[in-house]
Amino acid sequence: EAARDVLERASDRGTNRLGVEAMSLLDAYGIPTPAGEVVDSPVDALDVAERIGDRVVMKIVSPDILHKSDIGGVKVGVPREEVYDAFEDLVARARNYQPDATILGVQVQEMVEMESGVETIVGTNRDPQFGPLVLFGLGGIFVEVMEDTAVRIAPLAESEARTMLDDIKAAPLLSGARGRDPVDKAAVAETLGRLAQLVTDFPAILELDVNPLVARPDGVQAVDLRLTVD
Ligand code: ADP
Ligand code: MG
Repeated sequence: EAARDVLERASDRGTNRLGVEAMSLLDAYGIPTPAGEVVDSPVDALDVAERIGDRVVMKIVSPDILHKSDIGGVKVGVPREEVYDAFEDLVARARNYQPDATILGVQVQEMVEMESGVETIVGTNRDPQFGPLVLFGLGGIFVEVMEDTAVRIAPLAESEARTMLDDIKAAPLLSGARGRDPVDKAAVAETLGRLAQLVTDFPAILELDVNPLVARPDGVQAVDLRLTVD
């Protein structure tokens, strides 16, 4: 029902593109997300930051901005005393990029520990012939340049999800290359299964991307979200 609300709110706003404002979709399906909230004023941003931590991540939230970092719309490690100004700066950058952009606000998000992790991409889309598909790959050049992805038809049994991790060429990076600890593969597989369930339950979701899903030895966290609805 929480998931249904998120999708209905989007259609009320007359947009078919959603971003981090829809993170509760993932929460509703038991996919771990860092603490975060979308706010529409610098004062509220400060208020949320005080609850979340000494340093936070701040992101512009706009259906008209697909790649937030491309326009300087993501600030990582913002200390308390800079939260207020960071809010105004993010909005100014968005306005500068596209004066008539719809700006929903700014997300204030918990800092996620990336060093011990691997940035993965999990996503879904729809094939006219096969129906809902689930995709998995590693972030960075692996998906974009090497087109190194695994694809399955949803829904997805846990054991089937698990095979996706071994299917990509970059698989050794998940098993602890260069003296690192292996990531929690079961948590990644579980996330793939839960996403498959989400898109099976909601045919209106045409396309969805969690980029990155950070995979660490102690579990996963979905840091960013983007989706297109019918
Ligand atoms: P976009 O993909 O629209 O540019 P993201 O939300 O994916 O925006 O943020 C861009 C990058 O910033 C991420 O790939 C990640 O490296 C870093 N980042 C984003 N959110 C966090 C976070 N909560 N903690 C640590 N790093 C983050
Ligand atoms: Mg991203």
